[in-house]
Parts: sequence; structure tokens; C-alpha cells
Amino acid sequence: MLNVVLFGPPGAGKGTQSENLVHRFGLVHLSTGDIFRANIKGETELGKLAKSYMDKGALVPDEVTIKMLESEVKKHNAPKGFIFDGFPRTKAQAAALDAFLAENDTTVTAMLALEVPEEELKTRLAKRAETSGRVDDADPAVIQKRIDVYQKETAPVAEFYRDQDKYQGIKGLGTIEEIAQRLYQALEA
Ligand code: AMP
Repeated sequence: MLNVVLFGPPGAGKGTQSENLVHRFGLVHLSTGDIFRANIKGETELGKLAKSYMDKGALVPDEVTIKMLESEVKKHNAPKGFIFDGFPRTKAQAAALDAFLAENDTTVTAMLALEVPEEELKTRLAKRAETSGRVDDADPAVIQKRIDVYQKETAPVAEFYRDQDKYQGIKGLGTIEEIAQRLYQALEA
């Protein structure tokens, strides 16, 4: 299996580039943010809980997120592999993913980390707010909070994969196609 952790701060282009990777490699795309938003739309209990954190720019608790991710993975029978987009966001999530994949006789192949300067992230998120309808894109204070949470809780996850020699930094500036080519090269190498 080809299991890719697509990593990067909010606004780095993880969702956009996941679509490209799906087309290129036939992988299943699992975005925890998208799954939470679908639950919010469907007015499920999980959605109500997730919304209370997401609207503030905070992380949904690990226990809830890990359980949800595992149940999503199990829905797929004999996939070629997964793109994990927006997961893991904490070291505890990364450890849980490793353990869960090991139980299923597979592993994370690579972490591809999109690198984008903070000013560019803010510009992109403010622009996305015009069309995304996302509460957490609309408020500059919430955007800042998400970037801060990323620096504090999520950036250390890169170390987890660096220690396993699975980390690859990818320049996240340029056209969508240029960035896609860098990701393809990294996976095909
Ligand atoms: P995203 O769509 O990846 O930007 O995620 C939007 C929001 O969903 C985040 O700001 C968090 O509140 C929540 N979320 C998404 N993925 C996770 C995760 N792996 N762990 C905790 N919270 C998450």
C-alpha cells in the first residue's frame, strides 16, 4: 500500500493537492476536516462536538478524532492506499496511526510536508473565506489561532516522521501544477 501523510499548516494546499494525488495514484483521500464538516452538515452528535472546537480554531480531542479516522479507514476494502490530509495533527494521533496501520499489516510510506510562509497562508485563507463558507476562514483571529495551534501542537509531528526517515519537505509556493509535480516526484522517487 502507498500511505501518504500530506502535512502542512492551514492554507498550505493539502486539500487541493490531495485531489491531484488521488488522480495520479488512485488513493483514498481521508480528510478529517472534511469528515467533521460532513458531520456538522448532517447534524450528528460528532458534528455538534467537533463544531464547538472547530469554530474556535482549536483541535478536536485526540480520542474522538482517532476513533473516527480508524472507522473511516475500515470502510475501505483492499484500497491501494490512503492520503491522510489533516491527520495526524498531534504526536498522540501519529502514534495511534502507526499502531493501527501495523495491526493491519501496513505502514505510513511517507510524510510530504507542504512548506508555505505564514504571510502567504493568511492571504490564501482570507481569499478562501470568500468561497468556502467556512466559519473558521472568515475571522482573522480564528485563522491566527489555527496557525498558532499548528506551530505548537502539530509541527512537532514532523519530528515523529523525521525520526523514521519518512519526512520530505515540499516547497508549497508556485502554481498548483508545479507543486503537484514536486509531490509526484517525491513519491515516484
Ligand atoms: P482542516 O479542514 O484540516 O483545516 O480542519 C478544520 C478543523 O477541523 C481544524 O481546525 C480542527 O478544529 C478540526 N480538525 C481537523 N482534523 C483534525 C485532527 N486531526 N485533530 C484534531 N482536530 C482536527
